[in-house]
Amino acid sequence: MEEPANILVIDDERGIREGCKRALTPEGFNVEVAETAASGLRQLGEGSFDLVLLDLMMPGMSGMEALDRIHEIDPDLVVIIITGYATVEAAVKTIKKGAYDFISKPFTSDDLLLVVNKGLEHRRLTLETKRLQAIEEEAKELSRAKTELEKLDAMKSRLMLTVAHELRAPIAAIQGYLGLILDGYAAEDQQEMIANACDRCDELLDMLHDLLLLAHMKEKAGELKRKKTVSVATTLEEVAGLMKAEAQTKGLNFEVRIQDRPEILADEEHLKQLWTNLISNGIRYTPSGGDVVVTLEERDGQVVGSVSDTGIGIAPDDLPRIFDEFFRTRQAKEMEEHGTGLGLPIVKEIVERYGGTIDVDSTLGEGTTFRFSIPLSVEGAGGALEGGRVVGEAEAV
Ligand code: ADP
Repeated sequence: MEEPANILVIDDERGIREGCKRALTPEGFNVEVAETAASGLRQLGEGSFDLVLLDLMMPGMSGMEALDRIHEIDPDLVVIIITGYATVEAAVKTIKKGAYDFISKPFTSDDLLLVVNKGLEHRRLTLETKRLQAIEEEAKELSRAKTELEKLDAMKSRLMLTVAHELRAPIAAIQGYLGLILDGYAAEDQQEMIANACDRCDELLDMLHDLLLLAHMKEKAGELKRKKTVSVATTLEEVAGLMKAEAQTKGLNFEVRIQDRPEILADEEHLKQLWTNLISNGIRYTPSGGDVVVTLEERDGQVVGSVSDTGIGIAPDDLPRIFDEFFRTRQAKEMEEHGTGLGLPIVKEIVERYGGTIDVDSTLGEGTTFRFSIPLSVEGAGGALEGGRVVGEAEAV
């Protein structure tokens, strides 16, 4: 059953207050009264009303002034102005200001009931319209979320197809080698075939390693587990120390320029992975005699790192796909047969995990620069570093 409507009568004339109450209460309305606009407003603020009968001419705050205040309390509250004959003009003005209707004194209880019922019906319709609009808005929001989920689902399926396709190639090759050996077709080349099969196994394991890493990165659970204050410069020094020999063997000029030593709240392994992938790409895709230069600095509250090389570069058409899973350029495949095409997606995932961005600048045949920025203080990552101090989450190892 519908709740009875709550009505407030604000009038300084006792006769009107009592008369309204007497006329409306038997009709099942809850009626309260107020002698002044100020006390009426207080009652409106404290209770929940559907309709107000408001006298225009009152000592103290006028009905006109009260009207604005009433609509600040509840814009959908129905206000019916009670007016003497002389103030009809003013009553019309109040309608322009948002009052629903007016009733002129003197009035009968039938007149009153008519205007009150009309007003309450108007309120019911207004609230119903608003409710429907809210439902419509919610439905739109749900439909947007559904489209987003469908897109993600499609992306996931596409990725699974690509993964299956990429894993199939080395397995099919291994199966081919083994078949030839088994059928006795490889008597002379047996050693070579086994070595080839082993190479393809290595390739497969590399791919699985990177896939697992990427899957871990994408998995948000456990995100905070290994976070601690990490010096980005120290992780770079450690990684560079390990890669230096490879660069030297290849005859590259390898330089690391550390300008600042920023610290962030991070999983150390993530930072090492970030540097390792970018630097190893620089080394692998730069012919001997070339340069690989790594820089690190702190700028405008960001950790800014870059890896530049004078290597094979990336064609403009390939640049937009460079962070896609398994994507490798023709030039890269020609130079380095093996590669998973998963290093850069891992790098991107790491940078974005810490609220940062990465971009690439490259000219085919001349060289490439990858540059990333990670905010020193990451909001919403369960804690952040500000001025070297941990804020939020307690330091966790
Ligand atoms: P991988 O190096 O194993 O192929 P990545 O995801 O690390 O996989 O890189 C994807 C592709 O991006 C590479 O195959 C190569 O085509 C291109 N690339 C990445 N880094 C460089 C670079 N420094 N110079 C030229 N090409 C690069």
